[in-house]
Amino acid sequence: MQSDIIIIGGGLIGCSIAIELAKGGLKVSVFDRGQLMKEASWAAAGMLAPQSELNAITPMFLLCQKSLQLYKGFVSKLQEFTGLDPCYRNEGFLQLAFEETAKALDKNMAWQIDAGLRVEKLTSSQLKKLSPTVSNKVASAYYLPDEHQVDNRKLAECILTMAEMVGVKFYLGAQVTEICIEQNKVVGIVANGERYYSAKVVNAAGSWASLFNLPKHFLPEVKPVRGQMIALKTEAGTLEHTLHFGSIYLVPRKDGKIIIGSTTEHVGYDKRVTPQGLEVLLSQAQKIVPKLASASFIEAWAGLRPATSDLLPVLGEHPQLPGLIFATGHYRNGILLTPITSSLITDFIVTGQTSEMLEDFSPSRFMLTAKAS
Ligand SMILES: Cc1cc2nc3c(=O)[nH]c(=O)nc-3n(C[C@H](O)[C@H](O)[C@H](O)COP(=O)(O)OP(=O)(O)OC[C@H]3O[C@@H](n4cnc5c(N)ncnc54)[C@H](O)[C@@H]3O)c2cc1C
Repeated sequence: MQSDIIIIGGGLIGCSIAIELAKGGLKVSVFDRGQLMKEASWAAAGMLAPQSELNAITPMFLLCQKSLQLYKGFVSKLQEFTGLDPCYRNEGFLQLAFEETAKALDKNMAWQIDAGLRVEKLTSSQLKKLSPTVSNKVASAYYLPDEHQVDNRKLAECILTMAEMVGVKFYLGAQVTEICIEQNKVVGIVANGERYYSAKVVNAAGSWASLFNLPKHFLPEVKPVRGQMIALKTEAGTLEHTLHFGSIYLVPRKDGKIIIGSTTEHVGYDKRVTPQGLEVLLSQAQKIVPKLASASFIEAWAGLRPATSDLLPVLGEHPQLPGLIFATGHYRNGILLTPITSSLITDFIVTGQTSEMLEDFSPSRFMLTAKAS
């Protein structure tokens, strides 16, 4: 079976690239070893938040900021074509601290203010007005108007609907075990023991992206970092803004659901939810919004963030294996980076030109010069 492009991994990254390529008339096949969109892309909170996630103006910050700028157009187009609403919201974020961590928060906000990013220091009465359910004990509060959110599960539904509309072919339960190389060029893959042909293969396999047959020095190492999450049901309007409080965040959906995250754990491919993880999330969440003590529990889950050793994504073609393209390692920001990743990777595949924005994320930073056998 021959495709113009094979994509390994049916998460948001793989499927969004597939859509862009298929819209351009290419024959695109997506292989997923399980179901589509059921790993990190499903587990995430959907924050679109470069200022809250990063701590300096770096190439990564600029990539995230560019992607955030693309978001509104990205979701509008999806909504227009599919008739589905991915629930993109732009109310902004609140960064909060109690007395003991107020200084650290002030310091963290200072670089953003110095860099000219929009950050507003709030008095306690301004905070009460914006977010009446927040604890009276908050000692320092900032409003970040440019941080947004999307319901990543709804976004996933839109993307899958769109992918079907533009003719992407899906292979589900199709575990890719081999990326096939002949004369130092990619020629296809093996999935479930069967060979599929294409001169271009995109590795969008998230936390599993380095588990293929190629020698270790030919693949960037991507490791899983577990994040546990809880969803509570409250009355709609209990929170309007996403709250950041130390390492915990509360992301309110329109219907009153509040997503609370998250732990950062290096425990391999273990997706269990633990009492310890849940206790941290629930106790911190109730500390910052006491009313949550009487909310209803909906669900708890854990997902695996795909992390490289420098915590930056790997985007672009393998330096020694033409045709093998990486779009992975998005770690904590893959939902945010979906529009820019699909746009830049598609441009590269269609034109052969690498955007300057991709230079700092090239797979060549991990590669030795050995040849594939
Ligand atoms: C708890 C948590 C909270 C997060 N919150 C946010 C957030 O608020 N904002 C944000 O921007 N990002 C967030 N992230 C990060 C974001 O979810 C990820 O960066 C993003 O989803 C990565 O998408 P992906 O498509 O690369 O990977 P995934 O969604 O994991 O998809 C990879 C796919 O590849 C498939 N696959 C793997 N190996 C193979 C194989 N050999 N053959 C075939 N298929 C294979 C898998 O089955 C899977 O479907 C969070 C992540 C977690 C875990």
